Amino acid sequence: MPNNIQEIKNMNNSGPHKLNIIPDKAGADDYLKVSYPIRYGRYSEIRKDKLLLTFNQNGEVKTIQGLDSEWPHPSEWLKRTAGNDWVYYSAGGYNGMFDFIGEYYRPCFTYSTNALLGDNPFDQKIVRSAISRWADDLDAIFTRIGDDCPNEIKTLLDKIITHHPVALDRKAKQFHELIGGRISVLPPDARHVDYDVVPVIIADGCLYNCGFCRVKTGRGFAPRLKGDILRQIAGLKTFYDEDISNYNAIFLGNHDGLYAGETLIHFAAEAAFNAFNFDNSYMKRPRLFMFGSVDSLPAADHSCFKMINDLPFQTFINIGLESFDSETLTLLEKPISTDAVKSAFERMLEVNHRYKNLEITANFVLGNDLSREHITSLIEVLSNIPKKLCSKGTVYISPLYSGGNKGTMVRDFREIKFKSRMPVYLYLIQRL
Ligand code: SF4
Repeated sequence: MPNNIQEIKNMNNSGPHKLNIIPDKAGADDYLKVSYPIRYGRYSEIRKDKLLLTFNQNGEVKTIQGLDSEWPHPSEWLKRTAGNDWVYYSAGGYNGMFDFIGEYYRPCFTYSTNALLGDNPFDQKIVRSAISRWADDLDAIFTRIGDDCPNEIKTLLDKIITHHPVALDRKAKQFHELIGGRISVLPPDARHVDYDVVPVIIADGCLYNCGFCRVKTGRGFAPRLKGDILRQIAGLKTFYDEDISNYNAIFLGNHDGLYAGETLIHFAAEAAFNAFNFDNSYMKRPRLFMFGSVDSLPAADHSCFKMINDLPFQTFINIGLESFDSETLTLLEKPISTDAVKSAFERMLEVNHRYKNLEITANFVLGNDLSREHITSLIEVLSNIPKKLCSKGTVYISPLYSGGNKGTMVRDFREIKFKSRMPVYLYLIQRL
């Protein structure tokens, strides 16, 4: 018998069962945009009857994929996040999906988000049951494995048994307590690392507390103390444990990390990079993600952007601009002027042109209740960006879906996309 594969047959009276265990597999070491199932980092794999499960370096379940015809699609899978949410990766027509979200797979969530697209795979019993039953199914098999199996496999199984669903749930609660609550939304650019970011909160609250926003905390902006940032980093090191070697990206939260200022950003980015040993990560190309705002973008000067540009990360900063139309901003209860939005947009173009390792991206809303001027003013600006300033940057569109006509919103989205000189994608709200 090969040392890394355990096959167990005829384990009970109901018929033959087959179990293949591979304790250590090497997945991709760089995040790719591909139209086939891909696994990142080093992981363990268990193939049991109709399910293919992978586990991270701590023995925590990471992905589940159904292998029989009942599973919705042979190239789709479930992934568990650090916040213990299950996300279903739907192929949804590959090329068409890429036009909408810039990715070949659409992440589908168990919670409500602003996606305009597709069905809910969690409506399917086989998907729900894969989540609720994976541990029981494995338990039944593990108890039958004899003492003669290789040590490497025994160690893996011990780790997996320790991380049963109740323990994973408890651990996620500790994770959220550690950083001060759940991350209600990750920057859309986090899609470039499949949302595998380690979150370090450098400031709470935001500047505007806009009326329309569903992810706000309702608190005013308040930077964290350096001591608190170090406390989080130490706790996160323990939380991610051995699996930290599969990470190389951080999110400096929360809703306006850029407003925390040059000193705190530099402090947190450097401390996290060193503590998480990103120099030796299995994954290539470290990335840093943040949100900024219409006020924090112009407030950041050359010294701040130069510092960010010189960090050992490629950095993405996402700014909520929402609209160039004043009536829309009023409707959204966003207390900023159209002039401020325009100058923030121009600053975005300038920063993207000037700093190689830094990319600013912008969000705009979309909704049936918004005026036509919102769409026309957005198209006017996006279709007239000087060509030399379009080499970097992305525009994300956040649908404000309030039960209206989805078809109209999709048509508006397509019109904006096709007339823009900058890439335009939908923003899918993913939490952590
Ligand atoms: S849109 Fe941004 S600034 Fe406005 S409330 Fe939400 S998080 Fe805060």
